[in-house]
Amino acid sequence: MAKVYFVGAGPGDPELITVKGRRLLEAAGMVIYAGSLVNPALCAGLKAELHDSAPLTLEEIIALMARGIAAGKTVVRLQTGDLSFYSALAEQTSRLRALDIPYEVVPGVTSASAGAASAGLELTLPEVTQTVIFTRLAGLTPVPEKENLRELARHQASMVIFLSVAAAEKVKEELLPAYGPAAPVMLVEKASWPEERILTGRLDDLGSMVRKARIGKTALIYVGPALTGAPAHFSRLYHPDFRHAYRP
Ligand code: SAH
Repeated sequence: MAKVYFVGAGPGDPELITVKGRRLLEAAGMVIYAGSLVNPALCAGLKAELHDSAPLTLEEIIALMARGIAAGKTVVRLQTGDLSFYSALAEQTSRLRALDIPYEVVPGVTSASAGAASAGLELTLPEVTQTVIFTRLAGLTPVPEKENLRELARHQASMVIFLSVAAAEKVKEELLPAYGPAAPVMLVEKASWPEERILTGRLDDLGSMVRKARIGKTALIYVGPALTGAPAHFSRLYHPDFRHAYRP
């Protein structure tokens, strides 16, 4: 029976999708992709009927899926990174369950991994930290008070902060008490895209780094003592490090 496949598109580089995800895209009769973040190159040359979900509501997306399934098509829902967090997966799958539409989720390379990879970093260093926290500041989606950044920071683990560069000054204020002003931070904008940028510096400079480099919203903030594991990146404190992602 036809199914909806939620496929993690990866962080941007079209080669960073799984083999399974690629195969499903090629077999699909309908692809609904998140146009705001998914690299359009992933959809080039597909035989499927293509829909950008950016202007659509949840109900419109579900209606498209239902139409595709009723027509016997394999439907691929293509979303950035991995779908296990910040993906609205649960809203979509609960609607599909209500409609008795079968679905499957195919994992993807999260942008958090892509940014760490581009910087050549391991976020868990023996004797330093063995924990990575993925979190965000509240935006349109609230964050439960017990998970506020200031509390999470008390662990001094590695942190990857999503969806929050626009409020970098607030991130800094929340992190400062636990990590201290000299803690290493890294900003990765458009990880794995040709226009990728990596900036490193000190926590007390985080706000001005974002402002001066005009970092856009497709970026991640990394913080924590494990970032010092790449000394090359911190020998140029304050100097934005512009790099391209596609390497031979
Ligand atoms: N589930 C996705 C995250 C979706 S939320 C994942 O696994 O990556 C969208 C946020 O992810 C963006 O606001 C940004 O903080 C981050 N993001 C997504 N793609 C990115 C990329 N290529 N480089 C840096 N950050 C990215």
